[in-house]
Amino acid sequence: MSTPVSITGQTRIVGIFGDPIVHTRSPAMQNAAFRALHLPYAYVPFHVRPADLANAVQAIRAYNLLGVNVTVPHKERIVRYLDDLSAEAKLCGAVNTVVNREGVLFGDNTDGRGFLASLQERGLSPQGRNVVIIGAGGSTRAVLVSLIRAGSTRITIANRTVAKARALVRAYRTLGDTQLETVSLNRLEDPILFSNAALVVNCTSVGLHGEAFPPLAFHATPRACLFYDLLYRPEQTSFLRQARAARRSTVDGRRMLLHQGALAFSLWTGQPAPLQDMTRALNRALRTA
Ligand code: NDP
Repeated sequence: MSTPVSITGQTRIVGIFGDPIVHTRSPAMQNAAFRALHLPYAYVPFHVRPADLANAVQAIRAYNLLGVNVTVPHKERIVRYLDDLSAEAKLCGAVNTVVNREGVLFGDNTDGRGFLASLQERGLSPQGRNVVIIGAGGSTRAVLVSLIRAGSTRITIANRTVAKARALVRAYRTLGDTQLETVSLNRLEDPILFSNAALVVNCTSVGLHGEAFPPLAFHATPRACLFYDLLYRPEQTSFLRQARAARRSTVDGRRMLLHQGALAFSLWTGQPAPLQDMTRALNRALRTA
């Protein structure tokens, strides 16, 4: 168990809104950061049901919270209750971080920037690269916007429901110069799809409960291709296991979780995040999950 944050009359609260919320590991990570920098803040989970979201947002002002993180299922719907949005939040139509600027609520989305930061630490710049994304849900939106803005050459989106992938292409076709295309999941067996891929990202929830990943031509990727699973639990998904068996490099979702949290921390505090303290706390919290 880590030491609790000490609560005094000067403590300000930061929270996370979600439903359910019991699985969140963000309190461990953010409170470790507040402790490391001796900041008078405490981070707590709020179980906010959809019908209560408007009141919960009002409570950010009423209780003078420093801000909140926002998770499933509120990321899209909270947008309508906020006063101002970052360019990324507008593009994604979703918010994962709210900052209370003296009663004016600013919504940002740090998921995409967190994803890019985790690629950068692996020495991968998406500029001029071909990417295959599997999935077309909320997380794909953030990853897709960040990769287009970073200048990827071509992005192929494979999804079980191809219509959802097509809707993403329609929404972001003109955002940059990136060529966007969609394929069905069974095309993942086609080696041609991967011949020039620098990055393959799993943005689906397949593997969360130990399920096998749909057949994919892992060996057809270039040797330097990086396989990235947004899932951060379990540590060894079927997707990552097969990529490792094909001797490809892999990253799991913990690094994105860390960096989106670090960016949120900086938005609230105006200070660089203590990444090592947050990493240690996050790993500890995930081990005890
Ligand atoms: P959504 O519910 O919005 O999307 C889920 C996606 O998974 C859809 O594309 C869906 O396909 C696909 N899918 C679900 N079940 C299957 C299946 N059996 N076979 C094939 N495809 C399937 O979820 P999110 O995009 O918000 O999140 C996806 C995962 O990413 C989550 O598990 C989440 O934990 C993780 N995540 C991690 C983050 C991090 O910081 N590391 C940040 C955000 C998310 P279809 O459209 O056909 O239904």
